[in-house]
Amino acid sequence: MYAGQIVEQATREQLFARPLHPYTQKLFAALPHAARRNQPLTAIPGSVPPLGSITQGCRFTARCDKAWSLCSEKTPDWTEVGEGQGVRCHLYEGQGTRGKVQEVGSKGKSEQRQDDSKPTLHLAPCTLLLQVSDLRVHFPIRKGVLQREIGQVKAVDGVSMEIPRGRTLALVGESGCGKTTLGKALLQLIPPTAGSVRFAGRELIGANSREQRAAMQMVFQDPYASLNPKMRVAEILEEGMTALNIENNSAARQEHIDTLLDQVGLARNIKWRYPHEFSGGQRQRIAIARALAVSPQLLICDEPTSALDVSVQAQILNLLKSLQQKLDLSYLFITHNLAVVEYLAHEVCVMYLGRIVERGTAEEVLRAPKHPYTQALLSAVPRIDGARGERIRLEGDLPSPANPPQGCHFAPRCSHAMEQCRKSYPSATNHSPTHSVHCYLYGDSLG
Ligand code: SF4
Ligand code: SF4
Repeated sequence: MYAGQIVEQATREQLFARPLHPYTQKLFAALPHAARRNQPLTAIPGSVPPLGSITQGCRFTARCDKAWSLCSEKTPDWTEVGEGQGVRCHLYEGQGTRGKVQEVGSKGKSEQRQDDSKPTLHLAPCTLLLQVSDLRVHFPIRKGVLQREIGQVKAVDGVSMEIPRGRTLALVGESGCGKTTLGKALLQLIPPTAGSVRFAGRELIGANSREQRAAMQMVFQDPYASLNPKMRVAEILEEGMTALNIENNSAARQEHIDTLLDQVGLARNIKWRYPHEFSGGQRQRIAIARALAVSPQLLICDEPTSALDVSVQAQILNLLKSLQQKLDLSYLFITHNLAVVEYLAHEVCVMYLGRIVERGTAEEVLRAPKHPYTQALLSAVPRIDGARGERIRLEGDLPSPANPPQGCHFAPRCSHAMEQCRKSYPSATNHSPTHSVHCYLYGDSLG
C-alpha cells in the first residue's frame, strides 16, 4: 500500500521472488542484511504525500526513479500480470507487459545476486574503549509495612563484555531480558549493584566526572517521547552542552549546533522549530545530534530504529554508519532486530534473563550460532529471499528475573536440556578466540 492505495498484490512467494512495483522494490532494497554491510542502504528519497494531495497521476511519481511524463499525467490502472499477481504501475500496462515484467523483475534479481555476495568483515586491530566485568544490577523486592526485603530481581546478573574503539557491539535478546537495564547501568542512570565498568581505562562506578558523563551518551527507542515538546531544537541541542560546560559562549554553541545539524543531515534553519513539526526519522536525527552535542566516544543506541518504517530505518542506519567512520565512534546497539545486527554490528552478545549466553563476531554468532537460544532467535528471522528454514519454536515465555530457573536459565524452554542443566550454570566454552558460549552441549563445560 502506498499513500492510501494498494499498489501491488501477490502471494508471499511471488512478492519476495519478484517484486514488481518500484515502491515494493525500493522497500526490499532498504532492508538491512549482512550482504549490504559494506555499502549504504537504499533509502527512498522524500516522504509519503498527504492523503488526498495528489488527484492526478501516480502517487509515487515524485519518489520514483523510473517515472516518465505519463506518470504525472495519468493515474495508472490496476494490471493483472498473471498467476494472481497485480500491480498499479504504467510500466506493466498494455502491450509488451510480459517483456517489461521480465525486464523489471530481472533487475531485482541482479540486485539480489549482488547482495548474495559474501560479506567482507574488516577486522582491523583496535583498542578497547569500554570494559565491563561481572556487572550486576539487582533490585530488591520489598513487602509489608516494614518494607522488608524478601528477594531480588536480578535484571543484570554478572555481565562482562568489551567494546573496542570505533566498533559496534550488538546486544540482542527478547524484551525483558535486561538489555535496556544494562545500557542504563553503563551510563550510571541506574546504579549497578556490583562489578566494574572501565571507560578508556578509568573506572566509572563511583566516579562522577563531567568528562566521563559526556563520553557516553544514549539514543532512545522512541523519538517522539525522548524530545521535550516545549523546547526548540536549538535549546534541546544546547541543554547538554550547558550542563557539561561544553563551548563556553553562546556564539560558539550556536556554531556547534549548526555543525551538528550538518552532521545528521538536517537543515540549519530547523533549529528554531519544535519537535512536533518533524517526522519520526527527523526526530531521531535530532536525538542523535543531541547525543553528539557533547562529543561522546560511545553511543548506547537502545532500539533506535524500531519505531521507524523500513525506508526511514535505512536512512538512520546509513547515518549511524557514516558518523562512526567520520568520528571514530563506538556503539552499543541494543536491539531484537537481527537483520539490523547483520548489517551494522562487528561483535554480538546474546543476552538471556540477565546473562550473556553467547558472544562472538557477527559472522560467528549469526552464521554458526552455538547456543540453542541463539539458534531459536535466528530461526525466527524472516529471509529476504522468502526461503524458510526450520523454525525452532521456544516453549513458554521468558521467566521472571525475580524467580529465575535454577542452573541454566534457559533449561525450561530448551529442547536439549539435560539433568546437569537444571543443577548448575554452565561455564564458558570457547569455539575460537572470539566466540564463546555458556551451554553444556559443548564438551568443555561438562562436569
Ligand atoms: S506509474 Fe510511473 S511513477 Fe508510478 S510507480 Fe510506475 S513508473 Fe513509477
Ligand atoms: S545448558 Fe542445557 S538447557 Fe542450557 S542451553 Fe545448553 S543444553 Fe539447553
